[in-house]
Amino acid sequence: MSREREVDLLIAGAGPAGMAAALVASLEGLNVLLCEKSSQIGGTGSTSAGTLWIPGNHQSRNAGFDDSVENAEEYLDALVQSSVNQDLRTAFLRTGPIAIDYLEEKTEVKFLPCGRHPDYHSNMKGAAVAGRAIVPQPFDGRLLGSDFVRVRPPIREFMVFGGMMIGKADIAPLVGRFKSLSNFSHAAKLFVRYLLDRIRYPRGTRLVMGNALTARLFFSLRKRGVEILFNAPIADVVFENGRVLGAKINVPGDEMYVKTRKGVVLATGGYAHNKKFREAFMPRPVPIHSLSSEFNEGDGIAIGERLGARIAPEEHGNSGLWTPVSVTTRADGTKGLFPHLMLDRAKPGLIAVNSTGRRFVNEALSYHDFVEAMFEANATAPSIPCYLICDAKFIEKYGLGVAYPGMRDMSELLRSGYLKCSDTLEDLAVEIGINAQELRKTVARYNSFAQTGVDIDFGKGETELNRFNGDETHKPNPCIGPLATAPYYAIEIWPADIAVSTGLSTDADARVLDKDRRVIPGIYACGNDMASPMSGSYPGPGTTLGPGIVFAYRAAMRAAGKNPLA
Ligand SMILES: Cc1cc2nc3c(=O)[nH]c(=O)nc-3n(C[C@H](O)[C@H](O)[C@H](O)COP(=O)(O)OP(=O)(O)OC[C@H]3O[C@@H](n4cnc5c(N)ncnc54)[C@H](O)[C@@H]3O)c2cc1C
Repeated sequence: MSREREVDLLIAGAGPAGMAAALVASLEGLNVLLCEKSSQIGGTGSTSAGTLWIPGNHQSRNAGFDDSVENAEEYLDALVQSSVNQDLRTAFLRTGPIAIDYLEEKTEVKFLPCGRHPDYHSNMKGAAVAGRAIVPQPFDGRLLGSDFVRVRPPIREFMVFGGMMIGKADIAPLVGRFKSLSNFSHAAKLFVRYLLDRIRYPRGTRLVMGNALTARLFFSLRKRGVEILFNAPIADVVFENGRVLGAKINVPGDEMYVKTRKGVVLATGGYAHNKKFREAFMPRPVPIHSLSSEFNEGDGIAIGERLGARIAPEEHGNSGLWTPVSVTTRADGTKGLFPHLMLDRAKPGLIAVNSTGRRFVNEALSYHDFVEAMFEANATAPSIPCYLICDAKFIEKYGLGVAYPGMRDMSELLRSGYLKCSDTLEDLAVEIGINAQELRKTVARYNSFAQTGVDIDFGKGETELNRFNGDETHKPNPCIGPLATAPYYAIEIWPADIAVSTGLSTDADARVLDKDRRVIPGIYACGNDMASPMSGSYPGPGTTLGPGIVFAYRAAMRAAGKNPLA
């Protein structure tokens, strides 16, 4: 080994979890080294919506939203139905608000309450309609100076004009820019800032969502002078005399041995791009698409496996957190994935059908539950891919995937085959290869629900979550409208993972456990390398980043010998 170092704590992976662990450990006085496989920070976190699910958080309380950890506990107990991770969930709930306040107080990582943002099973006891989700405050990327290029950009499908980020709050003013003076002024400010940015930077520097979260963590690390090694993947750990004593890192053209006094934290983002683990853990058919960072190849989980760690959950099925995606063809010919998280599925006038031409799901479910329904339906009739179908009025008003609302020229989307369009439902069905007669019947039945406002088949529009993503101005049901104005449109929908939930089993301080559930000394796992404390369920917005940050905080506190609840 040609290069050797010694530090207190080595953290592998500069996503939200790894950066949070490094930041807290450094604040608690540890000598820290962060190694990152790629040339940029952020991982999947940079491309995410950046929402954190933190029940009882003070940011929401201070803004007047009432929530309690006890209610969240009741909700999780009913939803997750697993006693296995009870201790982890309790630790998460008790620590969440403390960890967030800690970051806000001591670093540049600042948050805003989301206000109304219902839990994904909003009809269950203990679920909240508002007050549990927080998002990072927008961040001015210019503050990073030349380090700005080190921030992994969002997916291209989330940017307009080739590099301008838009948050949820920007969509309405941009779409309705000629409808009011305030909309116009909001849109104009965004454009002007973006144009100025492009003189000096490769993309817009007004960062929102996951990009703001990771840039804020990075900025805070830079301010504290925490060392980050880029292009430096962790390759393995050194295990001697019953504990992890350090790790081997591949640095460009060399290998480095880092001896650790307090331990190694694995935060390499989970197994999404590891074929063997996908085959072993994921449901059938194994999804062919993933929105996780391509660098997330299961390195942390493989290291844990070699150490004899327990991988959880042991049963198949609850291994991924999903979103439906459509596959785009970009201007340069490359393929992209558009996640159908919340913009189109719940709006009135859209249905999802499978190969039989029939609906199989409440289209307004959370993205995770929608995909779970695809897997379930696929057991009896081909439902992967399935299709979202709407009419001309719908696509003009709400958009469909990357056919954005009000888009005048859809010829490129039609030419590439992303969007299918026909004057009749029968012709559309033939074009996408599904049962035409059944599609016609399905739409007639659905249109009758639009009149009564009651979806007697799947209950669309019945929950707070459904209605939140619907169109509240649409009556009687904000999620159901007729498909009646030709031409009709369809897009193909596939399952993709946005995160994985199978990972290394840990205790409440993120210490990795062996197969007999005993702590393996000197090694921690957080983020997607850690088995999700939610056991594969998806309680609400921010289900992975919330626990990711909280257990990173607990790991760092443990390594520093500090009380995480103090
Ligand atoms: C479109 C989209 C929207 C999302 N929105 C949300 C949301 O709003 N809320 C939410 O909770 N979750 C959301 N997610 C999921 C969330 O982004 C991930 O769960 C989260 O980023 C995982 O954090 P992490 O730190 O574990 O991994 P990552 O963010 O993926 O970071 C892992 C890092 O480790 C690095 N790495 C990999 N291997 C090695 C190695 N051997 N050595 C060193 N470094 C390594 C990677 O390069 C990467 O930088 C979303 C995901 C997507 C795709």
